[in-house]
Amino acid sequence: MPFVWSDDCLRHEPAAEIWVGTRTPATEVPARATAIREALVAAGARQVGAAAHPDEPLLAVHDEALVSYLRGAWEEWAAAGLPSHRVVPYMFAHRGLMDEPPAEPAAVWARPGLYAYDTMTLIGPGTWEAARAAVDVALTAVDLVADGEPVAYACCRPPGHHVARSAYGGSCYLNNTAVAAAELRRRVGGPVAIVDIDAHHGNGTQELFRRREDIRTASVHVDPGAGWFPHFLGFAGESDAANLNLPLAPGTGDDGWLAAVREATAFASGARALVVALGVDAAAGDPESPLEVTADGYREAGRILGGLALPTVVVQEGGYDLATIGPLVVETLAGLR
Ligand SMILES: [Zn+2]
Repeated sequence: MPFVWSDDCLRHEPAAEIWVGTRTPATEVPARATAIREALVAAGARQVGAAAHPDEPLLAVHDEALVSYLRGAWEEWAAAGLPSHRVVPYMFAHRGLMDEPPAEPAAVWARPGLYAYDTMTLIGPGTWEAARAAVDVALTAVDLVADGEPVAYACCRPPGHHVARSAYGGSCYLNNTAVAAAELRRRVGGPVAIVDIDAHHGNGTQELFRRREDIRTASVHVDPGAGWFPHFLGFAGESDAANLNLPLAPGTGDDGWLAAVREATAFASGARALVVALGVDAAAGDPESPLEVTADGYREAGRILGGLALPTVVVQEGGYDLATIGPLVVETLAGLR
């Protein structure tokens, strides 16, 4: 199975997150991607270099204002001589403040609050280049599948499934999974489905494709009602004909998780192609979620998804335990094949 890679994905070094007012070490680090690549190479996977793609597929899902802000955010922040060595929002354009969409503020330090929805997703030198490269990695995987490869894996970071049309957060900047799905939809000329098995709800993807039955979305994730990110979204009640949310209790292991993966996979049936948003942070031992899935569970999830026998693009999302992230991805892909 081919996997797509770009060295530019390593250029984003978030350094820290501001979590609940506290500066904590970043967990979405370049070593995640290199750990996955090492495991894939050891397993005999074939590396394919990412090809540069134009902005059209990106602008098919994201507002131009968000894309253009992210492209220049670090340069304007650095030029303003601000004391923080990363772009951090301090005031948010909250929906309770205004009826009309807010205008671009004059102050450089107010601008991130127009697009960011949390304080954890910092921008520094290389963030844009890495996020844009991740989109190219995902689109190159789409190219491979559109050209007849049964399955292709996009080994990219930063992740993307928390990014909506014009708002970024959750350690994500551009929605790689969504860009891939929209482009795959265009290329295969029929409905596609997204199954998101990251431990956290794919809120950005849900917002982007809400009520679009030609790009159905299903997400298996830890219950936001139990206190987990993204807190405001991911509830079962948001489900409709085009979107299925399957929230799980903290502590859920293979049996409950795989039952939900089966249900999400059934929701995807009837599509002409599949995008898997592969987060391996549902694994027992991952520091970012309380789910307890095993490596065997991930392999079985791959088998279940592979049972659809659809052309499949797999896009890397979360997974934060550097010791296991590579083997977990390899297990999932082995099951899929
Ligand atoms: Zn996650």
